[in-house]
This record gives sequence, structure tokens and C-alpha cells, in this order.
Amino acid sequence: MRFCAILVFSFLTLAANAQTTDSFIVRKHVSFGFKNGDSNRAVKALILHSTFNASFPNTQLPDTFSVEGVLKQFQQYGVAAHYLIARDGVVYELVEPNNVAFHAGKSQLPDGTTAVNSCSIGIEIMCTYTVGPNEAQYASLRKLIDQLDTNYKFKYILGHFDIAPGRKTDPWHFVDQGYFRK
Ligand SMILES: [Zn+2]
Repeated sequence: MRFCAILVFSFLTLAANAQTTDSFIVRKHVSFGFKNGDSNRAVKALILHSTFNASFPNTQLPDTFSVEGVLKQFQQYGVAAHYLIARDGVVYELVEPNNVAFHAGKSQLPDGTTAVNSCSIGIEIMCTYTVGPNEAQYASLRKLIDQLDTNYKFKYILGHFDIAPGRKTDPWHFVDQGYFRK
């Protein structure tokens, strides 16, 4: 009986440890769209984005939700975000969080900060202009935000449209289930 209790305890401990790892994140680092940052760079904002139709402008790639298609698009424009959430809910880490990803463009935080890339983490949710995130993506986003927030204690969690009004309207068709911190 005692032996059995120890086994159960060990199993529960293992399970608890597994949940605290970031195993749901797949590293798929890109070679473009970022610059090296300090290992302890100050991060105060998390910015949410939508990818555009991945087949644009190359109609040879008809899959609108192709991860490779989106990466090609990013490469073409010299941009990237730290994370990309694919339609199946898989989270790809494209850029190391300590590095500065080029995802915000000309933008401004509510406190007046204009060098937004330098002090933020960017998450791209794979969508199109007409199709918003699905359940798997919202679930992964929740997990990813919780994990990042533990580390960074974000002052802001915003949409791209919040920091570049009139210029950006993403994330599109995004249902805010308490994600934002404005
Ligand atoms: Zn955006």
C-alpha cells in the first residue's frame, strides 16, 4: 500500500512537471525580420497580430493557411514575430524572445513609447482577412500568453490596431475573451 502511494505520488509529480515546461512550443527560428537584443531586454508589451492570406501574392501556393507560405511572405517583407500560431494550434517560435522582432512597424504604445519592437513580444495568429482564429488557436494563445506573462508581467497586451490606428486593423475577427490589457 505504501509502495503504491509512493508510485502515485511520483506519477503526479512527473505530470505536474510536464505541465510547467513549454513543450507545446515548436522552435522554428527564422533568419530574417529581427535583430539581436540584450539578453535582459525590457519587455512591457505583448502585441497580437493576424497573418494575411498565405497564398498572397504567390498564387502558386493556394493554401491560405500554409506555415511555409506565411514565412515566405515575412521573408519577402523582412518582418517576423516571435511566435506564430498555426491553424492546428501549434505554436512556432520564430524569433528568440530576447531578440527584437520586426512586427509592429510605425506604432505607439498608450504611454507614448514609439520604439515598440524594442520593448515588445509579437504573436501572429494564422488567419485571413475574412477568417478569424479557431478554437485550437484561442486555446494555444491562452497558454502562450499565460506562460509569457509569468515571465514578463506585461504592462500592455494589445492588438496591432491599438498601436497603429488608421494603418493597421489586425488581429481580424478576434474575439477578446479577456486577453487584452489596455
Ligand atoms: Zn499586425
